[in-house]
Amino acid sequence: MSIADNLKQIKSSLPSNVTLIAVTKTHPIEKLMEVYHANHKVFGENKVQELCEKHEQLPKDIEWHLIGHLQTNKVKYIAGFVSLIHSVDSLKLLQEINKQAIKNNRIINCLLQLYIANEETKFGLSYNEAEELINSQAFKSLNNIKIVGLMSMASNTENSNQIKNEFNSLKVFFDKLKNQTSNNFQLTILSMGMSSDYSIAIEQGSNMIRVGSSIFGERNYK
Ligand SMILES: *Cc1c(COP(=O)(O)O)cnc(C)c1O
Repeated sequence: MSIADNLKQIKSSLPSNVTLIAVTKTHPIEKLMEVYHANHKVFGENKVQELCEKHEQLPKDIEWHLIGHLQTNKVKYIAGFVSLIHSVDSLKLLQEINKQAIKNNRIINCLLQLYIANEETKFGLSYNEAEELINSQAFKSLNNIKIVGLMSMASNTENSNQIKNEFNSLKVFFDKLKNQTSNNFQLTILSMGMSSDYSIAIEQGSNMIRVGSSIFGERNYK
């Protein structure tokens, strides 16, 4: 099937409240344009440099999401245009995003990345760390960022029950924090699920999925 067919098939299977992020990492511009011409304009990249290069080359009505680990010293490159940063995992990073947002005269929407997997390779805050962060005075003084949701990745396992339990624990945490709102904190987005596990994620309450391989085919890392 073509990229456009894959996209269409996935989109038609999604509940209307679920936003699809087409994860474009490693794929060339031509392939991204196939998705764009199929009228899908929400893209996700996991590296700052690739995000910037693609943003520069592609039409400007695309919404760009950063979904991968973000280093503090690279925030400045994306602060002017990024729609949503999924991968906030420290107060220090959030403070830098706030600083760069001020320079760009905008408010940058962010998700807190939580660590729910049983794997050491994944990034993210523990539930305790996340609560500490949002309850800190330092966080409350950040006026140019807004935490609009949570993001996480489940373990890379065949055990769908484990994946389900991991997603469910994030949903429980999300529901708990949803009632706590302030000027820079209001949770509406729950970003969980990728090609291999987005159906489970949606069953567990995800409303934003990040899908690469099921749209573009396997990635070729060179
Ligand atoms: C690459 C990536 C995805 C998409 O993975 P697929 O398995 O290709 O769907 C989703 N989320 C993050 C954070 C990624 O880095």
